[in-house]
Amino acid sequence: MRAAGQLVGQVLLELKRMVAPGITTLELDMAAERMIRDGGGIPAFKGYHGFPFSICASVNDEVVHGFPSNRKLNDGDIISIDCGVVLNGFVGDTAKTIPVGRVRAEWLRLIEVTEECLARAIEQCRVGRHVGDIGWAVQQHAEAHGYGVVRDYVGHGVGRKMHEDPQIPNYGRPGTKEKIRAGYVFAVEPMINLGTEATKVLADGWTVVTLDGQPSAHVEHTVAVTEEGPELLTLITGEAEAPSQEQTELATSS
Ligand code: MG
Ligand code: MG
Repeated sequence: MRAAGQLVGQVLLELKRMVAPGITTLELDMAAERMIRDGGGIPAFKGYHGFPFSICASVNDEVVHGFPSNRKLNDGDIISIDCGVVLNGFVGDTAKTIPVGRVRAEWLRLIEVTEECLARAIEQCRVGRHVGDIGWAVQQHAEAHGYGVVRDYVGHGVGRKMHEDPQIPNYGRPGTKEKIRAGYVFAVEPMINLGTEATKVLADGWTVVTLDGQPSAHVEHTVAVTEEGPELLTLITGEAEAPSQEQTELATSS
C-alpha cells in the first residue's frame, strides 16, 4: 500500500505543477493516465462503476466526481483533482484542491481550512480512537469558520478495493462508531463548502455540485494506522517545500 500511495501521490504532485490558466481538465486526465501506467499502475477510477476517466476534476462549485473535459481552467478558478491507482493489487487514493493563477482570498482560505481539517482528522487516526473522532475533528474546525460540511459523501477504508468499510464521515461525535486498530488504512477526505452543505448531482450522473453555487474544497490522503501513529501513504516527502506554479509565477513577476 505504501508503493501504491507513493505512486498516486507523485502523480498528483505532477498534476499540481501542471495546473495553470488555459490547461484543460482532459489534458490533466490524459497526463495522469500516462504517469500511472508508466509507474506500473492502473487508474483505479477508470471503469469504476462506469466512471470514464483516471481523475475526478471538480472546478469551483463542483464538489467531487467532476468529469474531465475540454473546459479550460481560468485565472481565479480552484480545482479539486482526485486520483486513485491500483499497484500490485493495492489501492492508493488522494486529492488536492489547487488554486489556478490568482484566486480571491476567501477561496484560498477555504482551501487552507480544508487542509487544516484533513491534518486534524489524520491526528485522530490512532489506535484506540474512534471513527467518530475523525469526523468530529473535521466538523468542529470547518464549522468554527462558518463553512458547510458535506454529508452526502464520505471517506472510506481502502485496501485491495478502493471503497472498503468503514465509512469515514466528515462529521460525528467523539468516542462513537468503530474503534480504530493498528493496520487499518483509511482514505480521509474532507469536502468543505464555502456556503451550505447541500449538494446535487448533475445530469451526467456523476458531477456533484453545491446547491447554492458557492465553491467547495476537497483534500484527501490515504492514511495507515500504525502502533506508532498515523502514516500518510500518499504524502510525498518534501512536498510542502515544492513551490506550486502560481507561487513561482508570483515570485517571478514581483
Ligand atoms: Mg479520492
Ligand atoms: Mg476516496
